[in-house]
Formats: sequence, structure tokens, C-alpha cells
Amino acid sequence: MAIGSKQRVRVALTVASFAVLSIFFALQYRRRKPQRRSSSCYLSADWKPQHSFKRVLADNSFAPFKHLKLKDSNGDDISNMHPHEAEITALMDNPRVELKNGIDYQDLNINDAYVWVEHVSQLKEMVDLLANESAFAVDTEQHGLRSYLGFTALMQISTQEQDYLIDTIALHDSMSILRPVFSNPSICKVFHGADNDVLWLQRDFHIYVVNLFDTAKACDVLLKPQRSLAFLLETYCGVTTNKLFQREDWRQRPLPQGMVQYARTDAHYLLYIASCMISELREKYNEATVSDESYGHDGKLHFDLQACRRSNAICLQLFAKDIEASRGEIAASSLISRHLNSQGTSSSDTLDSKKNHFEDVVRRLCAWRELMARVHDESVRFVLSDPAILALAEKVPSNANEIFEAIAQADLNAESLSASFPSPSPTVCSHMDHLINLLQEEIEDLDNLFCVFLQKCIGQNGSCPLSVFNYPLLIDSNVKLAKIIIPGQNGSKSRKKAERKASRRLFVQKFSCKSPVYHNCRIFANDGRLLCYCDHRKLEWYLRRDLAKVVDNDPPAIMLLFEPKGRPEDEDNDFYIQSKKNICVGCGEGIHYLRYRIIPSCYRMHFPEHLKSHRSHDIVLLCVDCHEVAHAAAEKYKRQVAEEFDIPLFIRNIAESTNVRDAAEASEMGIDFEEAGVSPLELRTAAMALIRHGQKMPPSRREELYQIVMRFYGGREINNEDLERALLVGMSFHERKRLQKKRGLSLKTNQADSVPIKEKKLDSPTLVSIAEDGLRAGASNGEKQGEKDCCPNSDSCTDSLTDLENPAYIEKNMDLDLTDASSNKDAYAVNAHDTGESGTARNGLVDILDGVDKGTIDSKHKSKFSLMGHGPHGKLVVDRILEESGEDGVCEFCQRWRQVFVEATRPQFLPAGWGIKHSGKRDFGDYSVYKPVYKGSAATNTRS
Ligand code: AMP
Ligand code: MN
Ligand code: ZN
Repeated sequence: MAIGSKQRVRVALTVASFAVLSIFFALQYRRRKPQRRSSSCYLSADWKPQHSFKRVLADNSFAPFKHLKLKDSNGDDISNMHPHEAEITALMDNPRVELKNGIDYQDLNINDAYVWVEHVSQLKEMVDLLANESAFAVDTEQHGLRSYLGFTALMQISTQEQDYLIDTIALHDSMSILRPVFSNPSICKVFHGADNDVLWLQRDFHIYVVNLFDTAKACDVLLKPQRSLAFLLETYCGVTTNKLFQREDWRQRPLPQGMVQYARTDAHYLLYIASCMISELREKYNEATVSDESYGHDGKLHFDLQACRRSNAICLQLFAKDIEASRGEIAASSLISRHLNSQGTSSSDTLDSKKNHFEDVVRRLCAWRELMARVHDESVRFVLSDPAILALAEKVPSNANEIFEAIAQADLNAESLSASFPSPSPTVCSHMDHLINLLQEEIEDLDNLFCVFLQKCIGQNGSCPLSVFNYPLLIDSNVKLAKIIIPGQNGSKSRKKAERKASRRLFVQKFSCKSPVYHNCRIFANDGRLLCYCDHRKLEWYLRRDLAKVVDNDPPAIMLLFEPKGRPEDEDNDFYIQSKKNICVGCGEGIHYLRYRIIPSCYRMHFPEHLKSHRSHDIVLLCVDCHEVAHAAAEKYKRQVAEEFDIPLFIRNIAESTNVRDAAEASEMGIDFEEAGVSPLELRTAAMALIRHGQKMPPSRREELYQIVMRFYGGREINNEDLERALLVGMSFHERKRLQKKRGLSLKTNQADSVPIKEKKLDSPTLVSIAEDGLRAGASNGEKQGEKDCCPNSDSCTDSLTDLENPAYIEKNMDLDLTDASSNKDAYAVNAHDTGESGTARNGLVDILDGVDKGTIDSKHKSKFSLMGHGPHGKLVVDRILEESGEDGVCEFCQRWRQVFVEATRPQFLPAGWGIKHSGKRDFGDYSVYKPVYKGSAATNTRS
């Protein structure tokens, strides 16, 4: 009992410390500042209030808006459902509007007292009061000019006692405090013309209005001559307002007195007006006769019910980003048609090409301003006005001065824009180079140009500040831009090109590391000296085994409870105590990066195990561009190695029927699948299906599958043994080894079994289950971007609970020596990027990679080859090195690769301790998971 509870406490503590750790990781990540950017963009010097927002629900990307999901919405995960649909629908039949009748006219006078709410504590106080009201009035003011989607700059709430002006800029990240009162069905919210407000509150704060009385809807039902608030204010309260205030800049602080007055007026009288209108609606009900159009049970129209229904119908609306507008196409079409109308129709053939060019330029400019508005979080009209676009499309100026003149002149002529904001906009001025390109170039590949613009702005070393608003644009633009920017461009050639570009961008998006790779957790020795930086899994590993205690949380650090063998300082190697940065070691890019293996896996996978253990030194982060450079250099150098050793990269044509004694062996040596005409995955799937269900399946299907397997064996008849061997094809070295161990049989034996398989009963459960493991791992990796800790190349593994407790598994997957362990989650990307290794899972990637690789073999070949790759070549090379110069030769070989890497990428950001001469050899400490003796004891420890 006592032991049990002690253990429980310990478990609880461990769990708690991990919770603390993970929170800190989350914070760490948030705190990560974007790298410093060159400051050619006006925004670097132009601070906007929304830059202080931390929680932004609607960013400027093309991704759809995500609505609030309530936890108790009985599990239905219908995305973007209204979280309060049920309550609102119920209100439409049974409205709950309890307004105090006959509010004393005296009370209506606006006095000097109002509450300016700008602190969270004030907001909470107000909410406590509102929670006890049966109704309150609401209005909001928006800012739209210097924001792409607009944001709520002020909220006015009035009760019968008080006017509140809520600074929704200062309180932007805390506005959720208001959610409960707004969604409370027993509190009636009175708005005038709530259609927009309801959506804006969702967009900015996930606030959903439930129980709305909209005085504009009441106007409709009562058939009032006008439905404006100004009209109601005048009619019911004798108050006049100046609606021009609507267009003021509501971001101003302090808010000028006139605007405060206006804002209060918009909400202050609403409760009174609503109570008057409800009385009228009920009177109208009493006056109504059966001969009127009637709906009620009593044959009469319930006008108040009607008004409430119409009001609550507004609440059911859901905010959505205007996806249509994303291409600027709608704006372009309307501009073009308006222009044509004003020009009158003059259809001369000679003018046709000119007209087409004009329209083309209008479309380009609309798309460009759309993109710039998203990037800089500005309204499109701020970036470039419609008249300016027309002027540019007509004149097609060729230099910055002319462009400047054309825009300024056009805006000057358009009266409505009377100097309310600068023309040309700072956005245009900062990015004049884009416009020159857009107007002048005979652009073939416009979508590419737009991606170039986007990269120039917020890509690596971009000119414009990154923000929560534009950062997501980088991620989803990869897919969308290609489709959006130029729907009019046809021709399969340019489309193919665009598709390739898009798939390249998709590659970046899919496989670049989504979270920082290095976590900068620290491990201290028991004398307090820093041993290394690592990721949190390594901390967990030690903590779980009671080998360490937590000594710091921010950033997390542990102290080992045992004496580690050796210290990095002692070894004169400070590499392992460098805090690693999550940037491309080549150029410093911090937005996307992927792991790059400096020593190609096709060689490394064949190194003796202990030389592989310090891999973090030779795995670096690279942005996609540097990755490409490094990869190309490595491929080139591989060919040099191939010549030097006289071992070809691809060993061809072994799949002759007579030569193939053993499929596994063949696969290890490399089969030309181009000629065999069957991919390893296809082969394995077919073989497995035949082994498992061959007897039961329809003969035609069986025949089909046989054909696949037979093709692999060069067309000869196949037997049971052949099928089993086929299961092994494409398995990695480790997978096969594991299989051999598990089965206790040598797969290299050559037992000719000539009984044709069609007549033979098939039964081979172990083999099948393992092969299935492989297939499963393969499929999930391909489809789910390798969510599992599985590295299909050099350290293939299948994931299971027992594996996770198995030090051998951890060794392979967690880099648990005193180097930096990093999550293998994304390692897959790099593996896939290598042209080369055998792997089970890469089929799905080959197409994507075709667009990325710039290898020398043509892509048709490569996509087939890459499934088998250079593994066999690598094995022969490494064997030769080991034979001729032993492990020193391997170290030397590694140094050559580091040299190749450095020469190709000229890395500027390698950790200080990194060096070409780094030795892969190091002894393991007693507690290192590499220490073979320890493996056993670790396993027993965890079980006790
Ligand atoms: P209101 O419903 O009158 O309080 O207006 C709310 C917000 O809508 C204002 O803060 C403006 O941002 C916007 N708005 C309403 N009418 C106009 C208008 N005619 N011109 C520009 N903006 C407007
Ligand atoms: Mn207003
Ligand atoms: Zn900019």
C-alpha cells in the first residue's frame, strides 16, 4: 500500500514536471522572435496597434476561419458549426426580451460620466455587472483602412445605469471574458443593424451573440419610413448625430471628445428605443385584424415575435473569410466592366490586342495589391486605389517616376479620396520594384513572379516585418498562389511548370520542420557544470529513470544524479555545449528548415554501429535552398566516389530470371525496377495479398497479382519461397535484420522450392505480420508525413509500446548520447530528399521530389531508382574502406563529406564547435544508452 502510493506520488510528480516542461516549451516557442530583417519596407518604421495583438483569430492567409468549438458540443466535429445554434434556434420560437417599459425620459440625458474600460480588471468588473442585467445595448466601431480584414477598435455597451466604452485594442487579447454574457440566452442584447457587428465579434474575439433584439429589424417589421439609427434617435429621442464620425480613425487614443460623445450616443439610447419599439409591435398585434396576413395561433401576426425571429436569424450567421476576393479577380472584373461602360463600346479589331493587354494589366495589379494588402495588413484601397489601377493599366509607365506620377494624378482626380491618406501609398513606394516588373515584363510565369514577391517581402531575408497576420501566408501560399494568381493562363506547358513549382512549395510546407528542432534544454553534471544542450525527450528519458532531477524550468534543465564519464570541456570539444539555433546553418533562414545529413545515408547506414552514434554533428538544419545546393553537391561527389572506387551508383539488371536466386539479396544489390517494371511497395502488397488471401480471391485478381510478382522475377513461374522473398524487397537493412532475428532463419539460404504456388497452401504468419508492419509504417509515413518516430532509411524501426521501453529502440531513435537529440518527426523529409536509400515508404513522395531534385539522372529514372537507391553502392564502398583502412578510413571518409558540404554551402551559421575534423569516435559513459551493459539494466530498472 505504502509503496503503491509512493509510486503514485512519484508518477504524479513526474507527470507534473513534464507538464511544466511542455508549457515552457510552448512559451519558448512563442517567444522566439523573428530574425532581424532588412528595413527597406515602410512598415519597419510604421507601428500599427494590431502589432500588439497576440491572439489573432483571423489572419491574412488563405486558410479558412476557424470558429469556436465548445467542448460539450456532443462530439460532433462538424467544422465551423455555429457553437450556439441550438440556443438561438430555441429563441426564435420563444424570444426572451424583457425590457423595462417606459424608461424615464429624464434618465436618457447623457451626462459626463462614462466608464472607459482598458484594463482586464475593469473588464471583469463590468462583466460581473452585465451578468445581472436582463438586457444591455451594444455597438462597435471598426478600423478598416490600415488592416486587411479590419478589426474592432471600440465597443460601446450601455445599461440603464452606465455607458461603457471598451478599448478593444488594449483589451484585444482579453475580450473572451465577454463571451458568456453575449452567449447567455437570458440576457437580451440590443443592437441597431447588427449584421456586421455579429460577424466582427466572431472574427476578432470568438464572441457569439445569443438573444439579439435588432432595432433595425424592428423598423422593417413596423414598416418605418427609414431604418437608420439617426432616424430613430431623432424620432424617439430628439437627438441628432453626425454619422460622419463613422469614418473616423477609431484607433486614436485618447479618443477625441467628439468621438467619445458620438460613440456613447450610438449605444446610449438603444435600450429606450427598443422598449418603445416593442410596445409598438405589441400594439400593432392588438390592432391587427384577421383579414391581415396572419401567422399566429389566434389568427393574428405576432409582430414582436417576428422582429425577434429576424434578429436572432442574424446571430446564426457565421463569419467567413472572403475567399473569392483572394485573387483580386472580382475587383478586376468589376473595374474592367465599369471602365468599359464608361468608355462606350468601340469594337475595332485593331484595338483588340490593346484591350486585352489593358485587362491583363488590371488583373495583375489587382492581384498584386491583394497580395501586398495581405502581407502588410492593409486594406486594398490603402495599397492602391481603383482609379490608380486604371491609370497604370492605360499608361503602362516604365519607370518609378512615371508610376509615381500616374498614381498621384489619378488619386488627385478622384475626389472621393481627397487626401485622406498618402498617394502613392507607402506600400507602393516601398515596393516600386514589384510594379516595374509587373508593368514591364512580358510575364510568362506570373504565379512564379508572385511567389518571388512574397519571398522578397516575408521570405528568407525578406524586406517586410513578419507578423501574426502575414506569417501564415507564407505557409499556405505555396499551394494557393499558383492556382489563384492567374486563372486565365492556359497552356499545358506553363501549367506543368506551375504545378512543379507548386509541388516544390508544397514540399517546403510539408516537410520543413514545424517546430524548433533544437530545444535548448540543458543537462548539468552533479557538480553543476553544463554537459550539453538537448531536446526535452532526452530530459524525460533521464527523469523517467530517476537518473536526474529538474533544476530549472525556463528553459528546462536537469542535473544528472550519477557521475558522467568525462566532460565536454575536458575533451576540448565545446560543440556539445553550444546552444543550437533553429536556423539554416547555411544562410540563417529561420522560417523553414529541414534536416540535412552531411554524410549520405547510403554510406552511413553501413558504418559500424559505434561510429554512427554521434550523428548530431553531421545532421544540420538547412533551408530548402541551401538544402538543394548541398544535395546537388553531394550527388555530384557521390559520382566522384563511384568513379574513384569503381563502384557504380546503380547496379543494373540483376533481375534476370536465371540470375535471381534471392529476392532479398537482389534488392540489397539494387534491382533496376525500371526494367523489372514493378515498385517494391506494389510488389510487397501483391505478395502479401497472395500469401494471405490467395486461396480466397477471385481467380482474375489472383492472376493480376501473380503477374506483378512474376514481372519482378523476370516473368518466370513463382513459388511460395519467391513470394516470401518478395515481401522483403524494399525493406531496409535493419528491417530485414530484425526479421531474420525474429524468425531465426537465414533469408539468404537458397532453398529452391519448385512447387508452383498456385497449387500450394500458403501459411507464413510471422513473415506476413512483419511485412505488414513494414507496409503499415510505410503507408503511414507516406500519408501522414511521418508522424511516428520512424526513420525509414538508416534506422528503420516499427513503433510499439514495448519498443518505446526498449533502450535499443531509444538508442536508434533518440540520439541519447551527449549530443543533441532532436525529434525524428521531420527526419523523414531529409531522408526522402536524399535520392538514395532503400526505404519502404517513399512512393508517395517521389512525385513531389521530382520537382525538387536536380540530380543528374533524368527524373523518370530517378523516381524508380530512388526506391532502391544507392544503398548497394554505399555498402560496397564502406566495406572497401573498412577492409583497406579500417575505422580511420571511415573517419577520413566522413571528413571528405564535411568538406564537400562546406564548399558547397559556405555555411555562415554552423555551431562554433562544428568542425570538419570532428571525430566520430568517443567512449560511452557507464550510463550511456550506447553502453551495451547498461541496456539490460535500464530495462530492468523501468520495470521495478
Ligand atoms: P455603426 O454601426 O454606425 O456604429 O458603424 C460601425 C462601423 O462600421 C464604423 O466604425 C465604421 O468602421 C463602419 N462604417 C459604417 N458605415 C460606414 C460608412 N458609411 N463609411 C465607412 N465606414 C462605415
Ligand atoms: Mn457606432
Ligand atoms: Zn513591405
